[in-house]
Amino acid sequence: MLGVQILGNEKVTVKDYPEPVQNRAEILIQIKASGICGSEMHGYRGHTSQSFNGGHEVAGVVIDAGNSTQFKVDDHVGVHAVWGCGDCRWCEVGKYTFCDHRSTCPGTHAERISAPEHTCLKLPEDIPFDIGVLLTGDGMGVPYHVSQRLNSREEEVVCVIGAGPIGLGNTVIQSFLGVEVVVIDMNPYRLSLAKSCGAAHTINSQEADPLEAVLEITQGMLADKCIEAVGRPETLKLALKLVGKAGTVMAIGEQGDVPISPSSDLIRRDITLAGSWFYHYSEYPSMRDLYRRGLPIGQVITDHFPLLEAQAAFSKFANGQAGKVILEP
Ligand SMILES: [Zn+2]
Ligand SMILES: [Zn+2]
Repeated sequence: MLGVQILGNEKVTVKDYPEPVQNRAEILIQIKASGICGSEMHGYRGHTSQSFNGGHEVAGVVIDAGNSTQFKVDDHVGVHAVWGCGDCRWCEVGKYTFCDHRSTCPGTHAERISAPEHTCLKLPEDIPFDIGVLLTGDGMGVPYHVSQRLNSREEEVVCVIGAGPIGLGNTVIQSFLGVEVVVIDMNPYRLSLAKSCGAAHTINSQEADPLEAVLEITQGMLADKCIEAVGRPETLKLALKLVGKAGTVMAIGEQGDVPISPSSDLIRRDITLAGSWFYHYSEYPSMRDLYRRGLPIGQVITDHFPLLEAQAAFSKFANGQAGKVILEP
């Protein structure tokens, strides 16, 4: 089958790979759509070539259901990217991200994948595959889980730092919940996407001081919540400055150590600093319901490329001139 190989130095190639080996507890899937994730940019920009690719947001059609009683040939499915062991206490309640023996889905920028039955999620047939990628992957999963952790209320102001696909997804969900969303980024194109995803205000941090702008928008009160979706020390520090008294900062951009001053950053203003990773398999039915109620999550998708044009897809994504980019084998 064809699959994408990450070569590093901003190069990828499409080449022939062995077919996935399916055991009878797994579902063999013909991939119809695979999303490019920001987390793949480390490998793409790095200097070593990989044996395959890091794609992990996928939707497709069952071509062999193995021993499954839940899935059958021709079912439409998505795959949860975090593969829990399926046997532990956390896996039993559908919280694979908490499983101590979890693994991750192998590269999905390919024609086929074999996935354990308990990681597959059934997609209604009227839902397009690109939306299915968002519904069962990072695109909606990460922002949905954040929304459950933040529990935003209608009158609140929520800042989103970073207008990549994850920041945009958070913008869609938070604004759908009735929150006044302020998006901060340096990329004018992505800020315009943020507007179409529901942002009430956008701030280009190269043109305006975000702190002053948020003070003005909130009449001096600062934000109730701030979602940090960049993963840099300076943006996490900015997030802590943008929330007002009793505010919450939700860190979702992965990064290393950041110096925090407990007294001035947290204690003296009752600030909550929290983290949130991916979403729970068990949250999928509520995510699908939110989409059914009109959540315009598709707004984050800007591009579709055939698998064979993976290089163009990766370049466009890496250049920041795209929202969510979907590869279609
Ligand atoms: Zn991802
Ligand atoms: Zn487990």
